[in-house]
Amino acid sequence: MHKRPGIVSDQRFFDHAIPQHSLENPARLRRLYTRLAAEPYLGRVQCFRPREASAEDIEAVHSSFYQEQLREHVNVQDPFSYDRDTYLMEQSLYTAALAAGGCLELADRIVAGEIDYGFALVRPPGHHAEPGRGMGFCLYNNVAITAQYLRRVYGMQRILILDFDVHHGNGTQAVFNETDQVLFCSIHQEKLFPFTGKPQEVGIGKGYGYTLNLPVHQQFGDAEYLFLLNRVLGNVVEQYLPQIILVSAGYDGHEDDSISRTLLSTHWFFVVTELLKFFAHEVCDDRVLFILEGGYNPVSLEASVLATVDSLLTPCGKRPGVAYSQRAAKILAHHPVHQFWTL
Ligand SMILES: [Zn+2]
Repeated sequence: MHKRPGIVSDQRFFDHAIPQHSLENPARLRRLYTRLAAEPYLGRVQCFRPREASAEDIEAVHSSFYQEQLREHVNVQDPFSYDRDTYLMEQSLYTAALAAGGCLELADRIVAGEIDYGFALVRPPGHHAEPGRGMGFCLYNNVAITAQYLRRVYGMQRILILDFDVHHGNGTQAVFNETDQVLFCSIHQEKLFPFTGKPQEVGIGKGYGYTLNLPVHQQFGDAEYLFLLNRVLGNVVEQYLPQIILVSAGYDGHEDDSISRTLLSTHWFFVVTELLKFFAHEVCDDRVLFILEGGYNPVSLEASVLATVDSLLTPCGKRPGVAYSQRAAKILAHHPVHQFWTL
């Protein structure tokens, strides 16, 4: 039976804010929350409050030295004293712990079978935060903290993370570079901040072959992205058999988001969600948890997040049809993925 999807939202996510303009600001979430509290969503999604991630949860990803550094840089007079775009105000670390804890709240409910699909509408985002360094608006790595929690608390040994934010998820990659218990796949625009995520970065040691980077060219859009994810993830999922799929869901690859040059439409975010639901139905009892990363045009962010939610409102359907894309196939022609997985 289809269960209503779980959403985490909370006004306290607005408390991480500065008077100066920053692309990463509370307005990103405000309208979305209003939309989700009204028709046609009212009563069709289950809303949950986040809890604060514990020190143990955060320390499974971030060094105590880093956390100490963050505390020292909380500075009301100069919020950018840590880094030029990653600001720290009085409430920032509390909000970041709440963002990570919101993801854990949904992870618990998915494992308990209360919900199949979850979407943590949290901020600040997390995928750039490395074990010992925050950057790119990110303080704590929400998706990495969630994966570590699922390993530690539930003993999961095969977790798939798909990161479709337009930027490479360098922080998440750094956390899981040496393990085969988390398979990290990032699709992102090439030659863009943080300038990592080349195909040759495939993991090391036990993690060799469990990092998959798919950098795409400027002007790539729905057709190319869908071809790549369908071909690569569709096959990898069948061979890896993940126990859950976590999604670093960034909406900054949208054609109306000026931070990137990729051309994803609003509808693409619906179709990719349908595809991920299909994969999860095949291998992991429908368990999918979306975690909000980037997306800096509030209008396209709102429409695209709602496109994702629209998909989550319905049970898994047929596998979406995906057309062949020659431009995208070229990316795979000499890609190291073939050394590790059969496509
Ligand atoms: Zn991004």
